Amino acid sequence: MTGTIIILPGGERFQFEWRRTDPERWERRLKAKYDESRSADRSDKARCLCQHRGAALPLQIRYRADSHSYHLAVWPNEGPLHEKTCPFYKPDPEKSGRASYVNGVIREGEDGDVAVTLSIGLRRKGPPRPVDDTPLPASDRPGQARQRRMTPLGLLHLLWERAGLTEWRPQFARHRTPTVALTRIASAGTRIRAQGRLISDLLCPVAPGHEKFGRRLHAIVRTEGKENHLFLIGFVEALEPDPRGNFTMALNGQRDGYLSIGTQK
Ligand SMILES: [Zn+2]
Repeated sequence: MTGTIIILPGGERFQFEWRRTDPERWERRLKAKYDESRSADRSDKARCLCQHRGAALPLQIRYRADSHSYHLAVWPNEGPLHEKTCPFYKPDPEKSGRASYVNGVIREGEDGDVAVTLSIGLRRKGPPRPVDDTPLPASDRPGQARQRRMTPLGLLHLLWERAGLTEWRPQFARHRTPTVALTRIASAGTRIRAQGRLISDLLCPVAPGHEKFGRRLHAIVRTEGKENHLFLIGFVEALEPDPRGNFTMALNGQRDGYLSIGTQK
C-alpha cells in the first residue's frame, strides 16, 4: 500500500508516514513551510489528495508551543469531507453518538486534540476539587443534545471513534485483532484530556499474551493507582454474578498474561 501523500505549499510532495518513520524530516519540512502555509490562499495551503466538490481540502500546519513541534491538522469541521481512508477523515459528529452532547462537553483544540467534561472525578482522594475546570455548559444545541457530561461509557465510545475503529478500512482485513484495536485505542488516549490529565496516563489495555500491556498496567497501577481512578479496557470474556448481587468480570487475556507478569519482578 502506498502512503498518504501531502502536498506542501509550492507543490512539494511529502509523505504523511514520515511523521513516524522519519520524524526529523517531518518536523523540518513542516517548519520550513509554516509561514508560507499560513499566508497562502486556501487552494495553495498544505493539503492531502482528497477533494470535495472538485476542490482540494486544505490542511493546517500548526505549531504546538508546549512541545515546540509542528504538526498537520485537519481544517475545522472538514474531517467528514475527507476520504474514509485518509488519516484526516473524522466521522460526522452529528451522525455519531456525539450528537447527544451539548456544546462544550467535547472541546476540540486547533491541533485536533480534545478535552472532555467527564461525569466522574479522576482523583480517588485528596482535597475535593471540581470535577472539571470548565463551567457546566448550557444546552445550546437543537434536537437531542441533552448530555452535559460524558460518562465512562461515552469516553469508551469516543476512544473507539478516535482510534478509527468505527469505520472499516481495507488494511484491517485479517489484522483487526483485539491487540491491534487496543493499541489504537491506547494511542487515541494520548490526544484526549480530562481534568488536566491525558486519558492515556490512566488507561490500561488488557489483551491476551501482550506483555507490554501487562507491564503498562503494573506501571500505571504503581504510579497512579493510589491517587486516581484507572480505566481498564479490554474485551469481556466472562461476566458472572457473585453472591452479593454484583458481577465479576473477566477480560480476555487477563488471567494468564497479566498474573504471570505480575509475579515477575
Ligand atoms: Zn484527506
